[in-house]
Amino acid sequence: MLTEKLLLHVLMVLAPVLGYGFFFEKKHFFSSPYLWGVLQSICAAFCMIFAHEEGGLYWDLRYVALILAFLYGGKVSGGMVLATILVCRTALGGEALLFALAGIVLAALTPFLLSSTFRNYHPYKRVKIAMLVGVWPTVVQIFILLSYTAYSGEINSTLVDSVYRVLPFGIIGVLGVGTAARLNELIIERTLMKQEIEKAEKLNTMGELAASIAHEVRNPLTVVKGFLQLMQKDDKDHHFSYIPLVLSELGRAEVIINDYLNFAKPEFKKLEHFSLSQILSEVCMLLNALAVKQGVELKWGGTEEAFLFTDRNQLKQALVNVIKNAIEATPGGGTVTVALSLSGDRAVVSITDTGNGMTPEQLSRIGTLFYTTKEKGTGLGTTVSVKIIESMQGKISFKSETGKGTEVTLRLPLHNKVNINY
Ligand code: ADP
Ligand code: MG
Repeated sequence: MLTEKLLLHVLMVLAPVLGYGFFFEKKHFFSSPYLWGVLQSICAAFCMIFAHEEGGLYWDLRYVALILAFLYGGKVSGGMVLATILVCRTALGGEALLFALAGIVLAALTPFLLSSTFRNYHPYKRVKIAMLVGVWPTVVQIFILLSYTAYSGEINSTLVDSVYRVLPFGIIGVLGVGTAARLNELIIERTLMKQEIEKAEKLNTMGELAASIAHEVRNPLTVVKGFLQLMQKDDKDHHFSYIPLVLSELGRAEVIINDYLNFAKPEFKKLEHFSLSQILSEVCMLLNALAVKQGVELKWGGTEEAFLFTDRNQLKQALVNVIKNAIEATPGGGTVTVALSLSGDRAVVSITDTGNGMTPEQLSRIGTLFYTTKEKGTGLGTTVSVKIIESMQGKISFKSETGKGTEVTLRLPLHNKVNINY
């Protein structure tokens, strides 16, 4: 009998999650607290109607609904479910009513306190936190049971029985919260992924359009630049003193367009075997002047050797962008360290700076087209680097802490055959 009740209750607490995911695909939980609150309130009411009654106390999984409502819907949904539970419990009556009401309010305390910070945690952590919170009502119930027995003065074998009754409901409750939370996370993930895909599709079309425009603009720009250079040569009397300025701005426009086109479609013109440590030395040498100007120490102490097979100029471009960013983010006196190591069949390049770092919000935006925090920035550098490294079947990852610095890690596939040849 108890097992059947438990199974029925598990089904009831999972119903709102499945129902929500089935009917309301467009939104995820955090976005419509009222609906989530109503569904969980119905669930809590059903749990209580079909509760297991013993000794004036009612056992059921109402707390699963309460916890899910607070954690995934916020204070509004949680408040709705709490009110429903209080009303239903009052309607059920019984001699232990006051104790039961106190227990319900106490059980709602932990999920209530966590309701505003819960969504900031990582999805996997959220499931674990939800399960931990699921333990709380059982603790409260045992406490209430003990106080009620002490109050009514009947300490006998029914107390032990009741505690045994709390435990299966407690354990099933924790598992129910865990399962429902995991299902919630899956639905949230699916909704977010759908949104991402829609966004990516839009961006893709816009990107292609922009790329064709950029391509068309580049040709007249080259012609204008050529004629301006001719004019500059002929301008012996220096009538047009602003020509260098115009040329430098044209140069900048050209760099942006080339960067953008490179982003839209990185062209690997010449694939070859080369030494990665040599490329790193070259890039560091190239950027050392910039580092010195900024008062930053650029350290490169590679002893490892790694060989790759790809377009070396593209790789150089990707490295320059990343190292340049590191130097630019580091105030005078700081250091930027470039290191190379091997891990399995991958070469791992890490670029660590002791600069300003980024907030989690900034970190999540890095690599997005045109995202920049610099006055004269283009927001293309990182995007181009990411695109190039990914086209090389490599991976790029960012780790950052505000005030401490940033670490960019590039993982690139090694080309072992070359090791033998060299
Ligand atoms: P840009 O350099 O033109 O701003 P990027 O795409 O190269 O464009 O970089 C985008 C943004 O990412 C920068 O404006 C900066 O805010 C941030 N960023 C990139 N690298 C770092 C780093 N090493 N430390 C701190 N912030 C960084
Ligand atoms: Mg940059």
